[in-house]
Amino acid sequence: MTPRTRPDLASIPAYVPGRTVPNAVKLASNETTLGPLPSVRDAILEAAATVNRYPDNGSTELIGALAARLDMSADRIAAGCGSVSLCQELVQITCNDGDEVIYSWRSFEAYPVVCAVAGATAVPVPNTPDHGHDLKAMLAAITDRTRLIFVCNPNNPTGSCLGKDELELFLDAVPDHIVVALDEAYFEYMRNAPGEDLADGIALAEGRRNVVVLRTFSKAYGLAGLRVGYAVADPEIIVAMSKVHTTFSVNSLAQKAAIASLGAAGELLARTDGVVAERERVRGALLEAGYSVPPSQANFVWLPLGEKSAAFTAAAVDAGVILRNFTGEGTRISIGDPHENDLFLAYATGAGREIAGVA
Ligand SMILES: *Cc1c(COP(=O)(O)O)cnc(C)c1O
Repeated sequence: MTPRTRPDLASIPAYVPGRTVPNAVKLASNETTLGPLPSVRDAILEAAATVNRYPDNGSTELIGALAARLDMSADRIAAGCGSVSLCQELVQITCNDGDEVIYSWRSFEAYPVVCAVAGATAVPVPNTPDHGHDLKAMLAAITDRTRLIFVCNPNNPTGSCLGKDELELFLDAVPDHIVVALDEAYFEYMRNAPGEDLADGIALAEGRRNVVVLRTFSKAYGLAGLRVGYAVADPEIIVAMSKVHTTFSVNSLAQKAAIASLGAAGELLARTDGVVAERERVRGALLEAGYSVPPSQANFVWLPLGEKSAAFTAAAVDAGVILRNFTGEGTRISIGDPHENDLFLAYATGAGREIAGVA
């Protein structure tokens, strides 16, 4: 007899491992291309000596370091096994079966999955024609079953970014019993135009008890392989999250590496300037080649190629570059080192142009 599992899991796609292509340049997962700093590597090696012990389930030292850096009390911070697990915890603490979670779509692939796993009803709201969040439509989608709203800022995979004023108006308009998660995985890559204020979720969460900010060590801090992120929220939400937290899921190497990374924040954040400069260079070259490329505030750019996306991504592999395909929608290109980006641009401005149908 077939073992019986929940029939509703059929709606969740099974995990398909990414294709590994020997020697190809990987611009598919928004990772940092540079390896860990020596100080971070040392902290990991030192922590390796005590992996016979369980980690600190409360990530006390890490949360203390974050509290000092963010100048807030430690009871407003939770650590998680990547911010993906914090997304999951937020659905678990807000939703019973059939409660609703609103998010913009296309956005982060994890949102529909964490909703489905928790038995919550996903309410995806189509992006605006310029690939950003349609905040008006998201407000209009609120019902008395709405428990949680994800706002991905900057948005993965389109790179779009909300301004401080529009986000503030949105937060003011959401009833304050509904939790709003500001997913700021790419916060460190945002750059404001002169005279324009950045939407800093942590500042916006000040005095708003329903706003949760999610950040991660996976992107700008370069620790994707160790799995650690954090949430900033009202202490009551932090306590609720701790109740559904998978025990010991933030491992001891991750905790120590994150603390060491905060210690080297200046150096790590300086790296984002290089990524931002490359992002603008890549976008400029693509625009010049005739592509339509929405502005990006993250460490990737988005090509809304529609039906041509799959073929464009497949042919890139033959040119030695792995990109991320969203079939029927577009291709996301992570920004790598200059020589990696050059390899991609050689493809995109050469063979790729015809496949993309760029005039
Ligand atoms: C990469 C990413 C994350 C971070 O995931 P981790 O689990 O922290 O590695 C969170 N949100 C979005 C939108 C992302 O793109």
